Amino acid sequence: MKHFDVIVIGGGHAGVEAASAAARCGADVALVTMKHSGIGVMSCNPAIGGLGKGHLVREVDALDGLMGRAADQAGIQFRLLNKSKGPAVQGPRAQADRKLYRAAIQDMLVQIKNLSIIEGEVTDIIVENDQVAGVDLADDSQIRARAVVLTSGTFLNGVMHVGQSRASGGRVGDPAAIRLAQRLIDLGLPRGRLKTGTPPRLDGATIDWSCLEMQPGDDRPVMFSFLNKIPAVRQVSCGITHTNQQTHDIIRKNLQLSAMYGGHIEGIGPRYCPSIEDKVVRFSEKDSHQVFLEPEGLDDTTVYPNGISSSLPADIQELYVRSIRGLEQARIIQVGYAIEYDFFDPRSLRPTLELKQIKGMFLAGQINGTTGYEEAAAQGLVAGLNAAMMAQDKDAILFHRSESYIGVMVDDLTSRSVTEPYRMFTSRAEFRLSLRADNADQRLTKLGLKAGCISPTRESAVVEKMKQIEAGRKALSDISLSPHQIGQMGILTSQDGVRRSALTVLAFPDVSLASIAGICPVFEALDPEIQEQIWRDALYAQYMNRQELQVAALKRDEELRIPDRFDYSKLSSLSNELKQKLERHRPSNIMQAARVEGMTPAGLTVILAHLRRPDTRREIA
Ligand code: FAD
Repeated sequence: MKHFDVIVIGGGHAGVEAASAAARCGADVALVTMKHSGIGVMSCNPAIGGLGKGHLVREVDALDGLMGRAADQAGIQFRLLNKSKGPAVQGPRAQADRKLYRAAIQDMLVQIKNLSIIEGEVTDIIVENDQVAGVDLADDSQIRARAVVLTSGTFLNGVMHVGQSRASGGRVGDPAAIRLAQRLIDLGLPRGRLKTGTPPRLDGATIDWSCLEMQPGDDRPVMFSFLNKIPAVRQVSCGITHTNQQTHDIIRKNLQLSAMYGGHIEGIGPRYCPSIEDKVVRFSEKDSHQVFLEPEGLDDTTVYPNGISSSLPADIQELYVRSIRGLEQARIIQVGYAIEYDFFDPRSLRPTLELKQIKGMFLAGQINGTTGYEEAAAQGLVAGLNAAMMAQDKDAILFHRSESYIGVMVDDLTSRSVTEPYRMFTSRAEFRLSLRADNADQRLTKLGLKAGCISPTRESAVVEKMKQIEAGRKALSDISLSPHQIGQMGILTSQDGVRRSALTVLAFPDVSLASIAGICPVFEALDPEIQEQIWRDALYAQYMNRQELQVAALKRDEELRIPDRFDYSKLSSLSNELKQKLERHRPSNIMQAARVEGMTPAGLTVILAHLRRPDTRREIA
């Protein structure tokens, strides 16, 4: 029988980050997945990043994860979204060549020495005395480990729908995981059903591109990885077209045939990624919706029509597709479909993504109620790091809301759960001015060094970058300018007699980097990217100072841990309803307790008073 420190089940976006993070931390890791060739497959859209999601990719990269580097290798169109707004809400996005993305992920995994890839279906989780001990495979073999990370995505009891027909499957071409799903239900994990959908894929050779508006990528492509500067492959444009009144009429007339609308699907779908049926019904006042025609690869004519995901029957999909300008002759290569699948209530997880009820068992990715590659990757990283820490008897690696989008997501999931597929937005982060995509390495690589998951190449790159940033900042802080001198540089300022540092002036509106470089030779000598980073940091410095008190208070609450077996029934001044909710959700700390529905300041004071009692403190220690 084989023994490992960590077993990761699933080779999707969560699984590959979990396996590689655990291995980077020195654990002996087995990645067990149904199909070796399916590792790194993008089940839906061929794109990585976007608003909020791009932040997650940068954070994964700052911790030396794979997603950003693979997206840079495979990126065929890079666009920085929200470019006209401030850096805090800008999101890097890239369209990826599917094959190149998968190849990049698989290449990186093969190079990891202490990582074994095993092709097979996991059918059972071995649990001994409430502690995970390994997994059983469909071929009757067994693998044992101290920690197991389950990242089975949309595969648990997956059912695919096209019109009235339904078929079992994890995604098109892959079987569902039925036996494992049943086993998880038997373990008593609270389960729900969610759904998502994908559009029909089109043959680009049958699209009339000549009548379509084309959208190229950015002139200055922004990479995901802090280690990369330019795209690795040829860049392409997307086409843009629109649905019209005729498209909407066809869809409206056939709504009853849609799996989503015909009452065949019980799961709840992603509100922010609606199907075309949803859009036509919910936004009935609109007579047109934009459709991006995204090439799926450089040597592949398949096109992903972003914006028209559907579970209508195949013939109706063809009818409405052909009603759209440029698509009159378009051939459907693969029909669109909806999928529903099991997920498990993430409130059963600790902030490390370990199940509260089974020691050493971690869940990450779509199984926790999220949607999207980036959300999955970020959770995979958290679970993989912590599985490695647990297996090596080291301290957990925690991500705080105030320090990362990863922390925001983990906290949202584990303290609030989900009512619909969870996706990341910048609006979810209360400290988004400091949690920017551009400074993810400055915020997180230190944490990665502590965990031991950062390569020497990245470590030296970050050390060198920080040295240059510090040198530039110091040189600018040392230059003191009078209002008169600032005015002479052509910069508007109040003539209040107050001297200001060049670093402060850098944050003024309409100041050019060149004008500051003109008065500071050290700054002038820096790489333009470092100059821009110093500018971005300066821009937000004033807000960061204001946020410090709020961040400190939040961290205090996060650090006030509540023991697993804390007995809420003893707190007589809490209502029975609140006690039941606390018993059910078992918040890990005071911050999570504050988010339990119905919690009051008085209730929190009661819990805090009990936490301060010597017997409780002993239990926490
Ligand atoms: P997956 O990428 O699903 O990977 C799961 C892995 O687990 C696979 O490798 C599988 O082989 C393996 N596995 C499962 N069970 C077992 C087992 N028992 N034994 C061994 N291996 C196992 N996201 C969006 O953001 N927007 C969308 O519009 C969108 N639409 C989607 C439409 C469809 C039809 C599908 C299928 C997915 C869609 N997604 C969408 C979701 C996106 O694909 C997922 O969020 C992402 O892939 C989740 O990553 P994951 O690692 O959790 O799981």
